[in-house]
Amino acid sequence: MPTKPLDRLMFVQGGLCFFCKQPLPKAEASVEHLFASSNGGSNNDENCVACCKSVNALLGSMSLKEKFQVVLNQKGQFKCPNSVTSTKTATPSKKPPKAPSVAKTKDDKFAFVVANLKRRGNSKPRTLKTLTTTIASLYPKGLSKAELASLLQQLQSTGKVTVKENKVAYSL
Ligand SMILES: [Zn+2]
Repeated sequence: MPTKPLDRLMFVQGGLCFFCKQPLPKAEASVEHLFASSNGGSNNDENCVACCKSVNALLGSMSLKEKFQVVLNQKGQFKCPNSVTSTKTATPSKKPPKAPSVAKTKDDKFAFVVANLKRRGNSKPRTLKTLTTTIASLYPKGLSKAELASLLQQLQSTGKVTVKENKVAYSL
């Protein structure tokens, strides 16, 4: 049997994150004390699970009750905050093979997004994440990932949006 706690737990869990059940590269893995060690939880394997660093950081020293709540709130679809799945599967096939559709439509979309952001005054999205969801929500019929990415790209390349450490600044 592997001797390090993390190795042991990973072995027991079949190399998957305890929470999201995604393959867990060792670089992303960490040991989560279910009953936090700061609250007197033991270091025994029975109190520990291997999981994504992100969710470990999130759970931190929450009480067991709070942790249960976090887990139950996911309704069985638990995804760690920065789930490793995307990096694993998405990279090669991220860009659709199709050539981008008519440039005019793209520019129209861009103008529409800029106009919408302008209208928001002081309540513009502050983080890249909310900006992304905001733009996506402007297109209830759906916006492909490539289109969304290209709009974000265009916002930045035209200097209308500056992203620094996930914080977004505007000069519209
Ligand atoms: Zn995970």
